[in-house]
Amino acid sequence: MTARVIDGKSIAAALRARVADAVQGLARDHGLVPGLAVVMVGNDPASEVYVANKSRTVVGSGMRSFDHRLPETATTAELLALIRRLDADPTIHGILVQLPLPAQFDEQEISAAIAYAKDVDGLNPVNAGRLWAGMAGLAPCTPLGCIILAKTVHPSLRGLDAVVIGRSTLVGKPLAQLLLADDATVTIAHSKSRDLPALCRRADLVFAAVGRPEIVRGEWIKPGATVIDVGINRVAALDGKSRIVGDVAYAEAAEVAGAITPVPGGVGPLTIAMLMANTVKACRMRRGRR
Ligand code: NAP
Repeated sequence: MTARVIDGKSIAAALRARVADAVQGLARDHGLVPGLAVVMVGNDPASEVYVANKSRTVVGSGMRSFDHRLPETATTAELLALIRRLDADPTIHGILVQLPLPAQFDEQEISAAIAYAKDVDGLNPVNAGRLWAGMAGLAPCTPLGCIILAKTVHPSLRGLDAVVIGRSTLVGKPLAQLLLADDATVTIAHSKSRDLPALCRRADLVFAAVGRPEIVRGEWIKPGATVIDVGINRVAALDGKSRIVGDVAYAEAAEVAGAITPVPGGVGPLTIAMLMANTVKACRMRRGRR
């Protein structure tokens, strides 16, 4: 079998077009323009690229983008003061603090400081709790994107066996909860799980969010299963340069799976598109509350 490739780029493009339509509708019907503030502390080169991409996509969708920079040496008090200012600004509907933060910061403290109604990254404990409680809120973008990709193959996830490898607050745990909300039967695996290959082999859906290059082998995959690879790992290439690979051994898995996401070009593009969608949702939620 050769798996169908789930093309994250084109799925994300369609989603961004829908977000742009929604933005136009908010402007036309309510005179509202969703605004996203992105805060970056320091000069991490990978984060610079992400932030530039996000700002471009935000503006391309017809929203307002507000970029804020703090130096590498910024203090927690300075970052909290900026977050308070952004929280109070009615033109800003979503706030994202780019992670990772320099070592002097407690990332959980910073996520908790963002008002949950503007927490478009879905990392505030209130939003995490609402997700577990089955209440409306803002969920993290990458897991939301994973669900959209899986649903391009299985419009209904009801009753499917899903394995999520990884239990981070950013990906694994919220993804498991979103799958449960869609009536999948969910196993969450992690570094202490026994016999990971056997857990994967019985799954209709495998989500790999581990951060270990190509840890998931082709022989772990049930024939016909859907494989969503969240991992982004930079490894040395034969020509002395480096390349990006996922957590799944793509060529092997594609021989067995029914459908699979590539890396790059799978989950990554959906993450930014879902950030746009969450910003529109935050804007609508605020309008609803008013
Ligand atoms: P993380 O916080 O480091 O979590 C990794 C998880 O994998 C942990 O739960 C860990 O288990 C588990 N794990 C580690 N080694 C394992 C092993 N040998 N077997 C089974 N489980 C193992 O990472 P993350 O933030 O969730 O990100 C995961 C990957 O996704 C990374 O490559 C990251 O770059 C990528 N990512 C991509 C996007 C995107 O937009 N495409 C977004 C976010 C993240 P323990 O809990 O037991 O330690």
